[in-house]
Amino acid sequence: AVPAPAMAEAAMAARVPPDEDGDECLPQYRHLLSPDLLAGQVAFITGGGSGIGFRIAEIFMRHGCRTVIASRNLQRVSEASKKLVAATGQQCLPLSIDVRQPQTIAAAVDEALKEFQRIDILINGAAGNFLCPASALSFNAFKTVIDIDTMGTFNTSKVLFEKYFRDHGGVIVNITATLSYRGQALQVHAGAAKAAIDAMTRHLAVEWGPNNIRVNSLAPGPITGTEGFRRLGGKFAEKSDLFSMIPLQRAGNKTEIAHSTLYLASPLSSYVTGTTLVVDGGSWLTSPNSFSALLDVWAAGANQ
Ligand code: NAP
Repeated sequence: AVPAPAMAEAAMAARVPPDEDGDECLPQYRHLLSPDLLAGQVAFITGGGSGIGFRIAEIFMRHGCRTVIASRNLQRVSEASKKLVAATGQQCLPLSIDVRQPQTIAAAVDEALKEFQRIDILINGAAGNFLCPASALSFNAFKTVIDIDTMGTFNTSKVLFEKYFRDHGGVIVNITATLSYRGQALQVHAGAAKAAIDAMTRHLAVEWGPNNIRVNSLAPGPITGTEGFRRLGGKFAEKSDLFSMIPLQRAGNKTEIAHSTLYLASPLSSYVTGTTLVVDGGSWLTSPNSFSALLDVWAAGANQ
């Protein structure tokens, strides 16, 4: 293992942007890109009230973007919106949607258009996940993950297309995962759901390119300070020294995912469409796929 001081030095040399663990805004932020990169634009972010989606909203707002953050729990997105507005001085509209129910998405998009008169960017971040061996996964549990992740991404993209992007163009970034690349154990539901989204990214990029709509996926690796990391084996990763097997020797943070999403959502990537940007420190290339260790994590969680 690389000793801690050497890791800290390496992190500084790599200029890892700071992050906050909880769903809090960054106490300070140093712009690497122009603060008006997204000036005048509006982003609709599903799952924007927590974790990676929350940080994407914050970083976009720090670059001049107004945001709509939408998920099932209105109280959660309302509280998140207050924090985001206080930290960035930009507008943020919190709305309640269930991405499995197209009519709730349509109502939210109508409300967002009424408020801002435009939507330039869609981030499909809403998802559900948990560790579970296929044999213990109920038929319904598998379906629920497909419904939220895959169907939810399609439903939201289609509503945005019909209500605004078809006539005005737009940018879609789907947050996926690397799970299916190596057939990660205990993740058949999420891996299958996210692989279908990566396929959808390519189909929609081809079909909607002539409408000036760019569609890309962003596949994060293990990201600290998220529900995903807490539930899906962050502890296991720390204990088993998994990080020393990741080429960049560490987990990523939410700010790093938000920065890569900013690239895909902004004119910096104006000729990029139909692709998946993997943001994982090289993790999927080298990390072990330890069935028995993951079973232990699942058993510990299932017994709580
Ligand atoms: P998170 O905080 O749990 O984010 C998931 C969000 O989705 C929540 O805000 C949740 O809000 C929303 N959501 C769930 N079901 C929904 C529904 N039916 N309709 C609308 N919104 C719904 O987890 P996260 O770890 O930050 O993950 C964010 C994204 O990154 C996900 O797509 C995840 O798969 C991906 N990812 C994360 C990691 C990681 O290490 N964390 C790694 C790879 C990929 P409500 O409960 O209020 O609905």
